[in-house]
Amino acid sequence: MEEARKQVLKDNFLKLIEEIQEACIDCHRSPEEVQLIAVSKKHLAEDIEFLAQLGQKSFGENYVQEALAKQKELSKLSLDWHFIGALQTNKVKFVLGNFSLIHSIDRLKLAQALNKKALDKKMVQDVLIQVNIGKEPQKAGVLPEDLEALVENILRLPGICLKGFMTLPPHIQDRNKMRNYFSMLRKLKEKMEQAFGKQFPHLSMGMTLDFKEAIYEGATLIRVGTKIFGPRP
Ligand SMILES: *Cc1c(COP(=O)(O)O)cnc(C)c1O
Repeated sequence: MEEARKQVLKDNFLKLIEEIQEACIDCHRSPEEVQLIAVSKKHLAEDIEFLAQLGQKSFGENYVQEALAKQKELSKLSLDWHFIGALQTNKVKFVLGNFSLIHSIDRLKLAQALNKKALDKKMVQDVLIQVNIGKEPQKAGVLPEDLEALVENILRLPGICLKGFMTLPPHIQDRNKMRNYFSMLRKLKEKMEQAFGKQFPHLSMGMTLDFKEAIYEGATLIRVGTKIFGPRP
């Protein structure tokens, strides 16, 4: 790996860590409450390895085959992998057990397929429900009004454990409006906790352009790619 690439990754990473800490201070949260997931899709395994040397252990991937290839290549590093992409029911067998958290459960059929495989393997898979907070037709995620029914059904599945909620809000410039979407997800989480008398610890929200707003609104997992790795090839 070239020295110049290492320098870019290191500078980007350290700057991001600093900005995350600043955002936490701004809103009186402890930086320990916010976990950075470095989104490494379409970037090389050697980039991941270098970031691991800098102390970054959690990585997010969107594509099953690509992710498994990188996991194999980096198996000696004991990294914490998150699956954050769209998931097809027929790919469930490949993701189960290979990711500490699957962020993108958005329909009961998918949850049921995962549950079945998990029970076969006698394990429990941690998941988040992806919510289409802006109700955008082209985006994945359960609609806010359908969330409670999905949560209720998922809580009945013993092979998966619901840890919280994830969203990819609409692309907008206005920072206050952006923040409002994150606040909507936080309120939905609180509503579900009330409804089911359970804690759902995680809010997975915030990316390169909006992680600060997400932190202000309670994000516990932020998924940042471009700001660390640069533009995707
Ligand atoms: C690609 C991706 C990210 C990272 O986006 P950046 O803008 O590069 O930080 C985060 N979350 C999901 C679900 C993604 O697909």
